[in-house]
Amino acid sequence: NTPLAEADPEVAQIIEHEKYRQFAELELIASENFTSQAVMEANGSALTNKYSEGLPGARYYGGNEYVDQLERLCQERALAAFKLSDKEWGVNVQPYSGSTANFAALTALLKPFDRLMGLDLPSGGHLTHGYQTDKKKISSSSIYFQSMPYRVDMETGIIDYDRLEENAQLFRPQLLICGASAYPRDWDYERMRKIADNHSAYLLCDMAHISGLVAAGEQESPFKFCDIVTTTTHKTLRGPRAGLIFYRKREGEDKKESLEARVNQAVFPSCQGGPHNNTIAGIAVALKQANTPEFVAYAKQVRANTQALAKRLTGYGYRLSSGGSENHLILWDLKPLGLTGSKIEKICELVNITLNKNSVCGDKSAVTPGGVRIGTAALTSRGFKEADFERIGELLHRTVEISSEVQKECGSKLLKDFIAAAAKSGKIAVLQKEV
Ligand code: PLP
Repeated sequence: NTPLAEADPEVAQIIEHEKYRQFAELELIASENFTSQAVMEANGSALTNKYSEGLPGARYYGGNEYVDQLERLCQERALAAFKLSDKEWGVNVQPYSGSTANFAALTALLKPFDRLMGLDLPSGGHLTHGYQTDKKKISSSSIYFQSMPYRVDMETGIIDYDRLEENAQLFRPQLLICGASAYPRDWDYERMRKIADNHSAYLLCDMAHISGLVAAGEQESPFKFCDIVTTTTHKTLRGPRAGLIFYRKREGEDKKESLEARVNQAVFPSCQGGPHNNTIAGIAVALKQANTPEFVAYAKQVRANTQALAKRLTGYGYRLSSGGSENHLILWDLKPLGLTGSKIEKICELVNITLNKNSVCGDKSAVTPGGVRIGTAALTSRGFKEADFERIGELLHRTVEISSEVQKECGSKLLKDFIAAAAKSGKIAVLQKEV
């Protein structure tokens, strides 16, 4: 039982450095958060030693008395956090991540080469929602199934539901996916349900990004309209890195054909092996925390902070996709400034602001994104309020101003020349100190 620092000082030091980096920098990546000490303790516990293929009460290994208790508790808490009755909904808490949760859900709902429609990646969708380019099928969700993506309107940045409805008439999907990685607006689930019903298709919501806000009642709940709801547990929900799959139960259904049976079979044995019980413990802790008034206050603050940042940036005259935000993230369109998302991501890194390049509406491809995605969930966990986010808006404004100057001086279009010129700029050093 030698402590890590003694057993492996190299790894211990890397972890310390990463911890310092996380707290020294301004963390604005929309998919990240700072989970609690309690979640991390559960995640680093003795539960990591245990194999438990199967479900509570029906395992392929012995010694699962406590693991069964844990998994049942996690399931109960997952339903409670989203105010669901166990008569209408069930949940599988074993997915290792959001991507595996999604692939298991597709495996449960579709046969190979069935047709699905999800939001296109350059429009803010996730890889696992059927992503492919004109030249290549990128994700297993487009390799093993046929995919026809829908998109946002290039002018407004809002999902073009009319076009989606028209294309669905041609493509006749068996599955419609809502949910996104970079979409600043809430969803019209009722409209999506109607479109799905026109084709007797399933409706799946991947609420990964917004699940903490949904739990707190700060975004529409997809549970009213969807058959399956998947989520990651580590974004706004603030748990460990993992996934959940909720499935609808129907009265009088044939148990063997039920979504419950199909989802459970798809997770194990179709897509995964033994569950990561340490992670399930971390999820259980996070779900308990998410079902408290403090968490509701947190989620409200996340949205208020996003509003404050959006207002400050639009106050400087900058363009945000869809004109603003209703959730925890904004998409900042840098094309009017002649800058790219890659350049601003890199220059932000130089001044200790962490965010990521992202496609914004009007981009031709996801490879050269014209903007950046900025999220408020992580810094809100560290107690940042509206005034702090206004200050972040100011710092971002100055970063962009300096970037424009560097761009002019450097004269080259290449990212590496731009970064080299930025690294030499005295203004960057000054800004770095302020951050
Ligand atoms: N679904 C959405 C909407 C996401 O944004 C992400 C990750 O960013 C995922 C799924 C995949 O989650 P993971 O990285 O845990 O596989």
